[in-house]
Amino acid sequence: MTTIYDGHCHVASTRFIPQEFVEDVAGNVHRKLSARGAAPSVARIARGYAGQHQDHLADGLVAEMDDAGIARSVLLVPDFSLRMPGCVPPAEAARLHHEIRMRHPDRFWVYIGVDPRHGPEGVRAFAQVVDEYALDGVKLYPPCGYSPSDPGLYPYYEICAALSLPVFVHTGPTAASLDYGSAEPLRIDRAARDFPQVDFVLGHAGLTHVDTAGYLAAYRPNVYLDIGGFASSPALPDWPEHLNRLFRTGINHKIIFGTDWPLGRMGGGLKRLTDEILHGPTVFAEVSRTDQRLLLSENLLRVLAPGSRPGGYPAAAPRNGVAAVAE
Ligand SMILES: [Zn+2]
Repeated sequence: MTTIYDGHCHVASTRFIPQEFVEDVAGNVHRKLSARGAAPSVARIARGYAGQHQDHLADGLVAEMDDAGIARSVLLVPDFSLRMPGCVPPAEAARLHHEIRMRHPDRFWVYIGVDPRHGPEGVRAFAQVVDEYALDGVKLYPPCGYSPSDPGLYPYYEICAALSLPVFVHTGPTAASLDYGSAEPLRIDRAARDFPQVDFVLGHAGLTHVDTAGYLAAYRPNVYLDIGGFASSPALPDWPEHLNRLFRTGINHKIIFGTDWPLGRMGGGLKRLTDEILHGPTVFAEVSRTDQRLLLSENLLRVLAPGSRPGGYPAAAPRNGVAAVAE
């Protein structure tokens, strides 16, 4: 049986997604629908979207993972707090995700969001929650208004280097109120060179900016691509063909499978996606079994536990402290 790990998920909860973000998404849906005739109001679309985000303890996500044959998933927790306030604060988000992980043992890794503008206090708080909850990685959301190569992030990267934590960086389009310039994949280049021991995963980069992201992945040893959102992008109605093209470009050792659930939740759920990938005629056409294993599980494991052998499982034991692990 094929082992599948999902490298890109979120808890579908209004605790972690700002109302302003929801309204931005609803605004674009309204614009698209109203161009073709009568459309629900932005407020009504936003209410419907929020209604899909009531899975606060991830029970619904785990049920879908079971159905789809996904053994374990990465939960990404973006920090929107300085740009779109209204969610639970970052430290509380970390605690709630820890509770979710305790509720569903061995089903989740958690990458916690940071923002360089929190200053030294933010770095201290990050080090503390990483230690307390044995978190697995960092999530960056540069469209909130900073570059992933911002020097204010370097203290975080030093901790990541010491603890072998990967850094997941959003790239490409997002909510209309946020900055797109800082979401260009090349913005990672400086940090990727300065921290060769830290693995950087470019979110969505297998879908947008593919040429640039592809050469970064091919030539920078510590840059990886995520394909999260592949089935939900309006630009990719032919996503099986797109993924197959991507999987034949010679960088399968650098691509990490991810769905970006709950994105596209209404379209048949995770099972529809894994069925199409594993049993459809297109996605894995002319992709070797070895490469399929890299894409579906082994690349993610290498990023989570550098140096581990394929088939190994990253340690889930609580850490004893930053200094102790850094030895
Ligand atoms: Zn996402």
